[in-house]
Amino acid sequence: AGGGGDKIDYVFKVVLIGDSAVGKSQILARFARNEFSLDSKATIGVEFQTRTLVIQHKSVKAQIWDTAGQERYRAVTSAYYRGAVGALLVYDITKRQSFDHIPRWLEELRSHADRNIVIMLVGNKTDLEDQRAVTTEDAKEFAQKENVFFLETSALEATNVENAFQNVLTEIFNIVN
Ligand code: GDP
Ligand code: MG
Repeated sequence: AGGGGDKIDYVFKVVLIGDSAVGKSQILARFARNEFSLDSKATIGVEFQTRTLVIQHKSVKAQIWDTAGQERYRAVTSAYYRGAVGALLVYDITKRQSFDHIPRWLEELRSHADRNIVIMLVGNKTDLEDQRAVTTEDAKEFAQKENVFFLETSALEATNVENAFQNVLTEIFNIVN
């Protein structure tokens, strides 16, 4: 970034997990390309996208992995988690079940990933407030109990998507520095 060419100081792998259709791929599209699609196809094949940011004058390449329609329980392989230093654990605020499954995802994450992985619980689709099925308080309480960060987002309205990644990446940056 800037005069020094394209030197990358750090590459941080971050994984997206959570039930199907909670908005993981659209959160990634919003963060990586500032795009959103209402009729997004289920992702085929293992895929990641990157975006390079500057954190405290260092160039940080975020390599964000998106599940390839493997959201069934235990279908995400250990290769997906390998080397991950951050995770966004996503549910849909209008789908209670997607929140009820979060403990399972967290358990899977903690059994596969590095013990120091930085985790952010993300309640997506806040633009659908009239269909809300998970209160902010419930999620906040869960996040505190599990010692993970928490934010609510809307990939559609671009609310807090930037913040979610920024917070995770900055926390990772602070851990390695
Ligand atoms: P994934 O299976 O978790 O990757 O979910 P997708 O990103 O494919 O999104 C599933 C559906 O939810 C798609 O129709 C998206 O357009 C929609 N969606 C994703 N994020 C949002 C959001 O923030 N608000 C609304 N209203 N719809 C969203
Ligand atoms: Mg997807």
